[in-house]
Amino acid sequence: MTRISADYVVVGAGSAGCVLASRLSEDGAKVILLEAGPPDRHPMIHIPAGLGHLIMHPKLNWNYTSEPEQTSGNRALMWPRGKVLGGSNSINGMLYVRGNAADFDSWSQMGCKGWAYDDVLPFFKKMESYEGGEDTFRGRSGPLPVVDYDTILPATRLFVEAAQEAGFPLNKDYNGRTQDGVAYSQMNRRGRFRAATASTYLAKARKRPNLRIETRAHATRLLMSGRKCTGVAYTQNGTEKEVHVSREVIVASGTIASPQLLQVSGIGPASHLQSVGIDVVHDLAGVGANLSDHYVVRIVHHVRNLITINELQRGLRKVREVIRFFATGRGALTFGVTSAQVYCNSREGLASPDLQLLFTPASYVIGKFLKFEDHPGVLAAVCPTRPSSRGTILARSADPNVYPSIRPNYLSDPDDVRVMISGFKHTRRIFGTSAFARHNVSETQPGPDVNTDDEIEHFARTMGSSLYHPVGTCKMGTDPNAVVDPRLKVVGIDGLRVIDASVMPYTTTGNTNAPTIMIAEKGAAMIKEDAQLSAN
Ligand SMILES: Cc1cc2nc3c(=O)[nH]c(=O)nc-3n(C[C@H](O)[C@H](O)[C@H](O)COP(=O)(O)OP(=O)(O)OC[C@H]3O[C@@H](n4cnc5c(N)ncnc54)[C@H](O)[C@@H]3O)c2cc1C
Repeated sequence: MTRISADYVVVGAGSAGCVLASRLSEDGAKVILLEAGPPDRHPMIHIPAGLGHLIMHPKLNWNYTSEPEQTSGNRALMWPRGKVLGGSNSINGMLYVRGNAADFDSWSQMGCKGWAYDDVLPFFKKMESYEGGEDTFRGRSGPLPVVDYDTILPATRLFVEAAQEAGFPLNKDYNGRTQDGVAYSQMNRRGRFRAATASTYLAKARKRPNLRIETRAHATRLLMSGRKCTGVAYTQNGTEKEVHVSREVIVASGTIASPQLLQVSGIGPASHLQSVGIDVVHDLAGVGANLSDHYVVRIVHHVRNLITINELQRGLRKVREVIRFFATGRGALTFGVTSAQVYCNSREGLASPDLQLLFTPASYVIGKFLKFEDHPGVLAAVCPTRPSSRGTILARSADPNVYPSIRPNYLSDPDDVRVMISGFKHTRRIFGTSAFARHNVSETQPGPDVNTDDEIEHFARTMGSSLYHPVGTCKMGTDPNAVVDPRLKVVGIDGLRVIDASVMPYTTTGNTNAPTIMIAEKGAAMIKEDAQLSAN
């Protein structure tokens, strides 16, 4: 048995884990970062348009699937998660969305003291480097580059024009003063390449002698001494190893693997743990509960007199785009998936938007994400951003190698169906404008036979998919279902924190990478404050 020691061990080198390892090691503390996947060397990680190669990659992706559930057409849905340095941030769509100020104010109202928008804004500013927007809201010199799309296809301009005709005002910075309206997307890119937390935060920190990064290192169990967590057991190249810490263990394995690691270590809902043969160390009901995800349906149009990504990724045009990418750092290979978005309300009187409509200047073969159609096409994904439906992540076995069961329970709350139907109608209204009509051939999905609310609901249940934003399974709070307190310490256990997307008590209005990085920045600052206090 190999035993190593450190001040801190961070389990999982994803969006959050790379930030934590970087910040905790900057003052000389000895930090070990464990990552189950390999280093981030695959070229498709770094070329933004490489997402299609990563979404089901057998080695860089955990390739989870959800349990078939009646609420979403009894289908097992694809749940990709990055298994590589950088985690899901190394395989994601790179869209940069902080969320709405009201999201964080509501966290605070739910008992997460210190997480209101005014509290988290300094961390959003600290983490990013962006040239646009207002100084009050935007950071200029953080490790994470944020850029506007610099190659905008006419199809995207058309969508933005059509959205304005449909009544949504143009918003120059949806990460600034207000989120509402239609906007061109911002993304995480440095020059022509993906900017993930591994290639930004960690790339700089990895030269420090006090930071050790272990890849292909799968954490199998938390080491406990009574109610104190003292380290982590892991396997690497078939060898069992242990890290023992003098300060803290930080679990940053993401919304699926963090609750699973706690559960297989005996921390979780006692009755479930016992039912799958796990000895209970600490009965904590909320571990794996409160699962929330963004579920979307896509409206697809066949268009004319427009070049869409469908054409740019074929034949001579593809060759031209590849040359353009390497020669100028511009063009279709620098795109993420979503080039424009609308934030809007499902009904009158809401204080902040509960819908995000995500536009892509491409269309996919029915049911095949990122498999492009043969004719020019565009699509918009309808996403209720603050769903009320809740699901679970539960270990099936004491064996950490057995994937847990994923039950998202999509559209189980009737209000989520109402919001989805409203978003569907907003999107059809945009595609029904005179601006868009000039280029429209027909709506190919769901097509003209889907009109009534019941038909839209049926379409959503049978054709919808995850937007890959699960959160909430180790939620922060002060109620009986909280897993971590507002300082991200696991309730009832010493020496253990969870810091990643799983601690969000409620999901945010938009994509979840930026708020996860913010959580890691704030979490690292709290760990340092607490270490300082205990040293004095
Ligand atoms: C395909 C896809 C597209 C997305 N697109 C966007 C987007 O465009 N914009 C956006 O904002 N968000 C997007 N997201 C969501 C966003 O990437 C996630 O919310 C975010 O990365 C979550 O960060 P995390 O640190 O919680 O988890 P992760 O980044 O998933 O990190 C967890 C890490 O822990 C490792 N790990 C797990 N178990 C163990 C173990 N037992 N031992 C050691 N290591 C372990 C994993 O391999 C992984 O590296 C997308 C996600 C996916 C999958």
